[in-house]
Parts: sequence; C-alpha cells; structure tokens
Amino acid sequence: MRKLAISEMLAAPSCWQTQLPCRTARAGNLPFESDVVIVGAGIGGLAAALRALESGYSVTVLEAGYVGSGASGRNSGFVVPIPSRHSPESLQHLLGENTAPFLAALRETAESIFEYTPSEITVKGWVQPMVRATKAGAAELAKNWMRLGVKVEPMEPEALESSLGTPEYAEGLHFSDAGAINPLAFVYQLADTINRKGGQIIEHCSALDVRPQDRWIAVQTQQGEIKAGRVFIAGNAYGSAASRKTRRAVSPLALTLATFAVPQLHSGGGLLPFSDNRKDMWFARRLGRKSLLTGCFALPLQNSADCSALLQDRIKRLYGTVVQEPEQQWAGWVGLTPDGMPMIHHHDERIMGWSGCNGRGIALSMLMGRTLMDRLCGVNGLHLLLSSGSFKAGNAMTWLAQMVIALDRRKQRRTVLAS
Ligand SMILES: Cc1cc2nc3c(=O)[nH]c(=O)nc-3n(C[C@H](O)[C@H](O)[C@H](O)COP(=O)(O)OP(=O)(O)OC[C@H]3O[C@@H](n4cnc5c(N)ncnc54)[C@H](O)[C@@H]3O)c2cc1C
Repeated sequence: MRKLAISEMLAAPSCWQTQLPCRTARAGNLPFESDVVIVGAGIGGLAAALRALESGYSVTVLEAGYVGSGASGRNSGFVVPIPSRHSPESLQHLLGENTAPFLAALRETAESIFEYTPSEITVKGWVQPMVRATKAGAAELAKNWMRLGVKVEPMEPEALESSLGTPEYAEGLHFSDAGAINPLAFVYQLADTINRKGGQIIEHCSALDVRPQDRWIAVQTQQGEIKAGRVFIAGNAYGSAASRKTRRAVSPLALTLATFAVPQLHSGGGLLPFSDNRKDMWFARRLGRKSLLTGCFALPLQNSADCSALLQDRIKRLYGTVVQEPEQQWAGWVGLTPDGMPMIHHHDERIMGWSGCNGRGIALSMLMGRTLMDRLCGVNGLHLLLSSGSFKAGNAMTWLAQMVIALDRRKQRRTVLAS
C-alpha cells in the first residue's frame, strides 16, 4: 500500500463513504431568499435545518463539499451521551447546576439518533475500559455519573474481557445508553428528511461571506447571493471561507481511522465498541464479523504507514493476533477547545455559530444544532453555559495536545518493553 501523507489521508474516503453511494441531495438552484440559511451539511447543520423546518421556516443549507463530507461522514460512529475529556467532577465544576440538564439533553439526543438509525446498523452499549485505576475506582466513578443521571455500570474484569475480547483491562464502565452507528447513513437520513419537508440542500456551494444588512443578511456564495433572515454557521473544524472563524476557534488535530481484516478474532466476544482512558486513547469497534475499525491521532510528520504500524501493534497487544495492512485508511479533523466544551459564536442576534466537539460530537452536534437554532428563532430552551466569543485556541493548544499524545505513546512503549 502506498504511504499517504496526513493531507492525503484527510482527502481519502472513509469506509462509510466507500460503502454508501454518494447521494446528491436534491440538486437545486440557489433561491433568492430564505428565512434561515445554514452553512455546512454535517450533523450540526442538518439538525439545525430540521429544527427550523419544524418551526415553520423556509430553510436553505449551503455545503462546500457534499452532505457528510466533513467529520460527520468520516468518524468512528460511537454515540456517547457524555462529553469527552470530562469526569463527573470536572463537568460539574464547569457547568454547576446545569450539569444534569445538559447530560439529560445529551442522553435524549443520543436516544433520538438510535431511533433515527435503522437497527441493523446499530450496536447498543459502549464501554470505557480503564488502563490505570482512577483514584476513586470504577465503582465510585459510576456512582458519580449516576448521581448526574447517566446510565452506567461498573464492569468486572471477566465481563470486560468477554465483551471486549481482550484481557488488557482490569476495570471499566458500561454505558447502556451509548452505542455505535453508521454515521454517514444517519447523515443521509437527516438530509432525506430535510428534502421531504421542503428544505433545500445545495452542495458544492461554499458560503463565501455573511454580511448583516438592515432588513436581511446577505450571504455570498459561489452561485450568487442569497438573502437570509437568520444564519447558522455549522462548519465546525471544517470551517472555510464564511465559516473560517468557527475553525479558528478550535485547535485542529488529525485523527486517522483504519479498518483491518480480523478473520482470526473469535466472534463470540469482542462485540462492544470501546474507547479507553489513555491520554492517547485506544478505541475499536467490530464491523461485521471480519473487520475491526480503530484509529489514532496522526502526529506531525507521521504518514499512513507509521499510523498503521502503531495500530497493528495495538491490535497485537489487545487480541494477541497479527493483522495485515489496513483494508482502508483515512483521517478527519477533530476540533479541541481549552475546556473540552463547544464554543458558541454569537455574531449578532440573527447570526450564530459554534465549533469544538473535542472528538465526541455525534450527539453533541445534534444537540447544539437543535438548541442554537431554537435560540436563533427566539425559543428559550436548554441553557447551555458554554464558552463564547473570540478566543482563538490556535496552534499552541494543538502543539500541547500533540506533546501529551507523544509522551503517552512513549510511556506505553516503555511499559511494553519492561513487561
Ligand atoms: C476521525 C474522527 C472520528 C470521530 N469519531 C467520533 C465518534 O466516534 N463519536 C463522536 O461522537 N464523534 C466523533 N467524532 C467527532 C464528530 O464526527 C464531529 O464532532 C461531528 O461530526 C461534527 O459535526 P458537524 O456537523 O458539527 O461538522 P462537520 O460534519 O465537520 O460538518 C461541517 C460541514 O461544513 C461544511 N462547510 C464548512 N465551511 C463551509 C462554507 N463556508 N460553506 C459551506 N459549507 C461549509 C464542510 O464542508 C462540512 O461538510 C470524530 C471525528 C473524526 C474526525
């Protein structure tokens, strides 16, 4: 297999994009005006579009590439109702009394995603195994999450081994409300529903500029200008042109994913998807009986061969089995924020945007799309006490995150050599 640079992995199709034929959303000309214009046809933009249609507004979604061409069509498909990088304590410290309502909204959103997604492509349940026991231990951690309304159970080593197919972990948590989906199939369903309800999705039409005027907002695009009553910017870590600001507010890290043929892995166990608590997180899910999807962050100067060698080592360590080169490999951008929470951009009361999923954004993007569209339309819903404004996370945080990952990798290598 030819070595790919990070930029080539970012352009390579995901396994979902290869499996599902690219469905062009109803091709249409740019309308002259629309009550609501949305920039970006990922989960966040499409969820917002549906919300606006349900509230009776006319909606136009502008997409620079095609539906699901950003992170939404390139991710691992884990639907998890807790934010990444947070413990119950750190989340409470940040959100105070809004913690439980926020988690309840995330759980309801995750449930609605499973309802939306056909059962044959859904795995229910997700495990967070622990490499090092946390100070409090899994039982205490589970109790603290449960106090906040999260459905979670601590797992014994035997249960962990049989549901993950590896003896690597001694402790873990089982989240029964979480699971795994085919993310692109979900995105296509959202787009189909928008089409059925009369929304317009215009692909290959980048929003170049968004200019508030007295009576409307002028959105410049490659196909001309559209007048909008309200604009929602959902470019997230893929933000470009008119949504470049949403990308500037996050520190982008390239996450590479790969699928490996694993015919030799026993099919009885190892069925639940998982992401562990390493700083350089290990995660995996089975795709059918013979394939495993896993991934790692791509550090500067690493190419596809370096990443797949690392993943092959991990598979050997987890399952004691040697696998060949990946069947498919690609990468996507993950947007980090300093506090691990999404950042809202409030340009004026008619223009809103957000970014920063910190790598766990399927349920979160849907929730953000719905909630912020409600706010744009004047409905007061969930009070999201999130960072907003002009902070530029930028290169320093990307660099810091890469250092943390590199150090954790070095530590893992030392542990293996010492054992
Ligand atoms: C490799 C990888 C694995 C991941 N795994 C998981 C996981 O297992 N579970 C999980 O919960 N999350 C995961 N995530 C995160 C999750 O995929 C994202 O948080 C989520 O998909 C973001 O959705 P979105 O709609 O906000 O953004 P995106 O899906 O990135 O959509 C933004 C869209 O906006 C478009 N756009 C940008 N600028 C413009 C413009 N000016 N004009 C028109 N269009 C524009 C882009 O082309 C893009 O299609 C993963 C991410 C990656 C990259």
